[in-house]
Amino acid sequence: MPPPLTLPPDLDCAALLDSLPVALALVNGENGQFVCANQAFLQHFGQPSGPFDTWWSHTHHIEGTDSADPGPALQMLAGSEEGVESDILGSDGRRHHMRTRLRSHGRYLLVCLIDLSDGNAHQEILRQALAEMETRSTTDALTGLPTRRRLEEAALSEMHRFRRFGHPISLIMADIDHFKRINDSLGHLVGDQVLVEFAQRLSKRCRDLDVIGRYGGEEFVILLPSTPLAGATTLANTLRQTICDTPFDTAGPVSASFGVAECLAGDDWPNWLSRADQALYQAKDAGRNRVMSAPESAFDERAIKHRSRLDRLTWDDGHCVGDPVIDAQHHHLFELANRLLHQVREARPPAEIHAVIRDLARATSRHFRDEEAILTSVDYPRREQHAKAHRILSAKLDALSTQSAHGSLPTSKLIEFLAYDLVDHHALGADRDFIPWLRRIPRDTPPPSDA
Ligand code: GH3
Ligand code: MG
Ligand code: MG
Repeated sequence: MPPPLTLPPDLDCAALLDSLPVALALVNGENGQFVCANQAFLQHFGQPSGPFDTWWSHTHHIEGTDSADPGPALQMLAGSEEGVESDILGSDGRRHHMRTRLRSHGRYLLVCLIDLSDGNAHQEILRQALAEMETRSTTDALTGLPTRRRLEEAALSEMHRFRRFGHPISLIMADIDHFKRINDSLGHLVGDQVLVEFAQRLSKRCRDLDVIGRYGGEEFVILLPSTPLAGATTLANTLRQTICDTPFDTAGPVSASFGVAECLAGDDWPNWLSRADQALYQAKDAGRNRVMSAPESAFDERAIKHRSRLDRLTWDDGHCVGDPVIDAQHHHLFELANRLLHQVREARPPAEIHAVIRDLARATSRHFRDEEAILTSVDYPRREQHAKAHRILSAKLDALSTQSAHGSLPTSKLIEFLAYDLVDHHALGADRDFIPWLRRIPRDTPPPSDA
């Protein structure tokens, strides 16, 4: 496991705080005196003097109003995890509606003031900075793959589906063999190029739905939704060959070892990961360039085959994400999918089947558009990725529709798309990721029409 991330010793933290568009001040926790303030604070309020409580009561005293002395501020702020919203007088003579938060750091208290009334540049800069931080913490700069943090989030969301709906999930842990030797003999730059090519080779072999991430160093983790152990082990062997069969552009022959584990009923994320890690260790121990699997699996071959015999999707309240428009549209898509499955089962004429596929394509495209607008309105940070997943699904549905128009659409492909891609993974999977954002900012705008 890679070591935890730490601040670089040459980082100038004071300069960093000065560059932030949020007003920050450090207060001595023992005597309540201001110690220092960043540029944004000075611009907003001027140089503070004296104890924080006095400053607070002055800036809250607004001439011409009866606003009362707000009392001992430090005490009040310390008791509030969320922070306190209030009107504060800025050095521009205007009242600003602000949220003030207090965090304790040893002997010091960090006061953070965010302007809630300022809908202009500051807020925009802050939003951009947060979006940038979000991207950096979820995307690995070298390979462009999701980072360990994003992987963990995806794993938790998949585990939720596993617990709720019983869909199997497996993970593969891959580690390049003797990577240190590549660095030592060919240099770090070549080492980096190997990591990039390694990531590309894995990505090419996996499905759109799989989540491939760089877990750290030369260790990669692949999450495989709706895949039991047997399927994951087969894929791991294919990936192993993809790596060792063809020499790498810059470093020649490279191999990797793989550990596979299926998520079990009692597993939490560290536990599940550790079973894959142990299997990987066994693969290394047994001579590298091989796949080892943790033996436990809850899904036998019969359960796997059952997937292609699926004939009806069952909607229940557990499928709701909590937004009336999205839930109604998901429900409607389930109904259309069931109509289609029914027609396929009854071997209806191709023209009838094609008409329902067209309805489904239209409803899906409308739903994607509405859902993307809602995700934008609640500031869901991964809306770009989500929109990309929508584009991939739309393209697949278009291709199926074209095939069905030519009468050359195999039933199994249609079922696989409906049950697996659209419902199992997207509506019951990716769509659960934004539930917390829908809860955080309840929408009160009327829902778009469902024409
Ligand atoms: P094993 O077969 O047992 O996995 O041996 P190994 O040499 O691959 O494993 P080890 O853990 O001993 O060494 C991993 C090396 O990966 C050490 C570290 O310097 C290097 N490394 C980690 N991150 C990066 C990176 O981003 N770029 C490069 N070039 N090297 C990296
Ligand atoms: Mg290693
Ligand atoms: Mg290694």
